[in-house]
Formats: sequence, C-alpha cells, structure tokens
Amino acid sequence: MARIVMKFGGTSVADLDRIHNVARHVKREVDAGHEVAVVVSAMSGKTNELVGWVHGMPKATGASSPFYDAREYDTIVASGEQVTSGLLAIALQSMGINARSWQGWQIPIKTDNAHGAARILDINGEEIIRRMGEGQVAVVAGFQGIGPDNRVATLGRGGSDTSAVAIAAAVKADRCDIYTDVDGVYTTDPRIEPKARRLKKIAFEEMLEMASLGAKVLQVRSVELAMVHKVRTFVRSSFEDPDAPGMGDLLNPPGTLICDEEEIVEQEVVTGIAYAKDEAQISLRRVADRPGVSAAIFGPLAEAHINVDMIVQNISEDGSKTDMTFTVPYGDVEKSLKVLEGAKEKVGFDVIQHETGLVKVSVIGIGMRSHAGVAASAFRALADKGINIKAITTSEIKISILIDGPYAELAVRTLHSVYGLDKK
Ligand code: ADP
Ligand code: ASP
Ligand code: MG
Repeated sequence: MARIVMKFGGTSVADLDRIHNVARHVKREVDAGHEVAVVVSAMSGKTNELVGWVHGMPKATGASSPFYDAREYDTIVASGEQVTSGLLAIALQSMGINARSWQGWQIPIKTDNAHGAARILDINGEEIIRRMGEGQVAVVAGFQGIGPDNRVATLGRGGSDTSAVAIAAAVKADRCDIYTDVDGVYTTDPRIEPKARRLKKIAFEEMLEMASLGAKVLQVRSVELAMVHKVRTFVRSSFEDPDAPGMGDLLNPPGTLICDEEEIVEQEVVTGIAYAKDEAQISLRRVADRPGVSAAIFGPLAEAHINVDMIVQNISEDGSKTDMTFTVPYGDVEKSLKVLEGAKEKVGFDVIQHETGLVKVSVIGIGMRSHAGVAASAFRALADKGINIKAITTSEIKISILIDGPYAELAVRTLHSVYGLDKK
C-alpha cells in the first residue's frame, strides 16, 4: 500500500464527463488499496474568465495604485477550484468512494501575505492523514491557501501544481502524480514541435530551468518544493484510459519522473528547449559610464518588484557613455518606464527606448557543464536561418537567446534539431 497525491489540471476537469474520467483514475488507485489525496485545478478557461471579470471592474475611488485590491482578486479567482473540488467529490461518491472536498483554509494551507502570488509557508497534514487512514479520499482545491490576514490567498498562475507537491510533502506521500493534457515532459513543447520526444526522466535542476524559462507544464515553485522535499513527482496524462495496462504501476507509472540527476543513466548534453513569449526590452541610451550607475538603474526596478532578466551593456567609442539594455516581462513595461523616468536625474541618461513582442528561447541541459561548444552551435544554427540575436545570457546548464517574436517557432525547431532532440 502506498500514499499517493494525484493532481488534475484544468483541461482534465474541463467538463462533467472529464471529471467522471478523473474519478475513474482515482478509483483505480483506491481499489488498489492506496491512500489517496487529490488536488484539482479550476475548469480550463475558468481562471482566465475570473481574472477578466476583475480587470473589467472600476478601480477604487481615489486609489493611488493603478491596481485593484489583491485580496478581492484572490476571493474571486480562487472560486474556480472550489467548484471542481465539490464536483469531483460528488463524482467519487457516486462511484461508492468515500470522498470529501477541502478548501485551502480548511486544511489549513497557510501562506504568506503576497495576495495573487502567495507562497505556502506551512500545511498541517494531520487531519488529511487521519482521514486517509479511514479510507476517505481528500479532494483539495488547488491554487489557494489562507494568508496571515485570515483571507484566501492564491499561489500565482499554474499554482495547483505547487498545492499538489506541497500536500504530498506534508502528508509524506510516496508519489505525487501531476495529470495533465500531455503524457509527460517533452524535449520541447509538443504543441509547437511535433518531433518533440517524451523524456522518461528529467533532473530537478533541468525541470526548474525549463519551467522558469517558459515550459508551463509545471509551475516553477512546485519543482523547487519537489526538489527540496524529495517528492517523487511524475507528469502523466489524464486522457489515457484509466484502466489501461500499466496505468496503476506503482514504481514505474507511464509519464516522466522528475528526479535527482544521479538517477539518470544516459545523460544527454542538451535535455530540452524552452521558450517564453511576451518579453520586452528596454534601452537607456547614453548613460554616464561611472560606478554606481547600474545600482541607480536596477535598484529602483527591484524595489518596484520588477523582474529584470537579460542585461547587455555597450560602451560608446570614447568610453565616456554607455547604453544599458535589459529585458522585463511585457506586463511590467509601463511600470518600468515610470520607475526609470523617476530615476532619470540620478542615472543621467539621454533617452529610453523600448521594444515589445520579443521571445526568449533557451537551451537546457546539465550535460552542458562538461561540454564546450554548445552555445556556439546554437548561434551558428540561428544565423544560418537568418535569425538575429538581440541578447544572450548563460548559466552552467542553460543558454538563453532573445529574438524577435515571429521567429520563435523557427528558432525552437532549429535548436531542437541541432542538438539531436528530434524524434527518430
Ligand atoms: P494543466 O492545465 O494540466 O496544469 P498546463 O496547460 O498548465 O496544464 O500545462 C500543460 C501544457 O504544457 C501542455 O499542454 C504543453 O503544451 C505545455 N508544455 C510546454 N512545454 C512543455 C514540455 N516541455 N513538455 C510538455 N508539455 C509542455
Ligand atoms: N486555475 C489556476 C490557473 O489557471 C491554477 C492552476 O490551474 O494550476 O492558473
Ligand atoms: Mg498548469
């Protein structure tokens, strides 16, 4: 007997038929004698609809901030998961399974106060463990917890993955299965490269890079938690027949295992390609080239919680002036420009320019640590296709390249094939 946490994403619970199908996956594990807790997302499209409703509302009279009240945002967007948790509990009960739904506050899943992008601080798994021991299935609403202000807090988009891994850690589950609309983690997004291959295993560090560089198959925080708490996490499909042979395999279920790199026997140099759309680039022209300038630029941006990524600095010919160029997420452009205008006197630049609609394509693999020339072949391959590179950043296990949006798919496919990742 094992203890298993099963998470079902938005497309897996998109309508009542799919919810019944999910119930069959749960029944399979219950019938095999396992203790089961389930985490559900909202029906696909629901969270977007709820967010849209919030954005459609007028701001508070006299509000100085351009943003709506984040506590009310959370009240609204957390409701999608409340619905699916109740529906799945009913579907399970109709199959004769003892099931009960749980909202974040009932467990409780305690978070910090960062409404809209809260982090889980603590989960008390005792009651769930006790009930699982009595044969009850807990159906937990993902994406939500309760903040120190005693209000519902949501975990950022894609946050149900994090709910699932955190609950798996709290109840000391033997396994956390993330069921989604693809049958595992692929070498790149299978929706844009049909030649992408499913990976049997991927190392935590690589999955962390893939997720933070745009592969939305897992929320970044869920991978961090899985790595820290050593949660055995599988990504697998909810669309397969729940009773097909092998689906209930305890040690080797179908899908991709996220694991320590030591568990991966045949390590390739490059494991995958990720891409992130909606990047924007900001350039400050003719900045004085003296100590303290970078601090004067990036300090205020950091204080405004703007995530600056790729930074490029070009020195002018006479060496007295410099251009400072960097990327921010598209959604933060307006805010960044405002912050920089405010810092203009201190920084001393001539003009600010910005460009949107850019894409960051990244090559990821822990094998890069011990292989030279990986970056050079990427640059050569992109040049051969006439793709212009606007900025580059590298770390030990990844290379990120900024390009114009329309070239995104061509760049992903080109790199995928250059590193021999295409399906044979
Ligand atoms: P869910 O609603 O189940 O949480 P998501 O839409 O958040 O599902 O994540 C699954 C999607 O992630 C897939 O449909 C796929 O298009 C996308 N994806 C991006 N990169 C990858 C990758 N490397 N491997 C698998 N899926 C990926
Ligand atoms: N429903 C939430 C979202 O769409 C959380 C999730 O699906 O993981 O972001
Ligand atoms: Mg998701």
